[in-house]
Amino acid sequence: MTSRGRRSDQRRRGNIETLRSGAKRIRVYNGLDPVTKKPIYVGETVAANTPGLDKAAERALIRWLKTVDDQKAPRTNATVDELINAFLDVIDIDRGTLRGWRNKQKNHIRPLLGETSLKKAHPHVLETFFAELRRCRKHCGRQPQVDHRTPRQHERDHRCVRHQCEGLSTSSVREIHTILNGAFGRAVVWEWLGANPLDQVPPPEAPKPNPQPPKTHEAAQLINKAWRNDPAWGACVWLAFTTGKRRGDLCGLRISAVDLESGVAEFGLVIKQDGRDIYTGDPKGKRHTRVVLDPETVEVLREHLARCAALAAAAGATLDPETSERRRSWLPACPSVPDH
Ligand SMILES: [Zn+2]
Ligand SMILES: [Zn+2]
Repeated sequence: MTSRGRRSDQRRRGNIETLRSGAKRIRVYNGLDPVTKKPIYVGETVAANTPGLDKAAERALIRWLKTVDDQKAPRTNATVDELINAFLDVIDIDRGTLRGWRNKQKNHIRPLLGETSLKKAHPHVLETFFAELRRCRKHCGRQPQVDHRTPRQHERDHRCVRHQCEGLSTSSVREIHTILNGAFGRAVVWEWLGANPLDQVPPPEAPKPNPQPPKTHEAAQLINKAWRNDPAWGACVWLAFTTGKRRGDLCGLRISAVDLESGVAEFGLVIKQDGRDIYTGDPKGKRHTRVVLDPETVEVLREHLARCAALAAAAGATLDPETSERRRSWLPACPSVPDH
């Protein structure tokens, strides 16, 4: 391209405008906004008292043209909230997790960052946001206020107390970091942003796990009490203690996945819950695990299965060992096992 051709091309893509104050405004076209479909301009204003104003403005124009050519300028006027909506619409995650993420968006990200333009979501803005979450989960902005006992209309009483700031838990802050990091990462792939502003902002360190399992005599008391209330519930609590499996794994254990002869149970299906909706899913890490059962546990399961078969027979039905449907799966087959 000749130098004249290049100059006219630069004029089309960007221009320098003289403002009434004498300052020069540089605007460079950066394509259409993929979200709003409106043209995007980037640029800056060079102050009127800048030495060599015309040359400085010309240099700024060339710099902005290069920024756009290198795809480092923001390609959208979208806000953080719009980006997260677009991200959550395409992401493939468990629906219970998705619901939790939408709640985090609604309760924490939207009130503080939702309206922020992606162009302004700098690392400093994001670090300030995380600091506010760590300071107060209600984002009170240090304003005195009252924590009401219910969001509904009510008479104020002793349960409505002066607000005391309490930071959001580290695990929640980490989850919010994960959501934003995922969304900004997609924004880079979609060419909405040149770089992920969270690349420079690490999440808070994971808290050290501090499980406090019941002691042996407490576990024995729990199992005995459960058994007295209901043998099916007792079998469930027993299996939880001896296998260390979670509730969803225990509920998802099918009759066909238990081999009482060789004493092995295969955990490969999980019952999940999202509000009132109950569905099956993969175990954590999508890994199937085989657990060797001790002879006592085999006996507990044998008795449990016999009770289930008797219950089914009384209702004129048979147990289907292949079914993964919650009500006919291994443990919840007995009607008295609570859902939570
Ligand atoms: Zn109140
Ligand atoms: Zn507060």
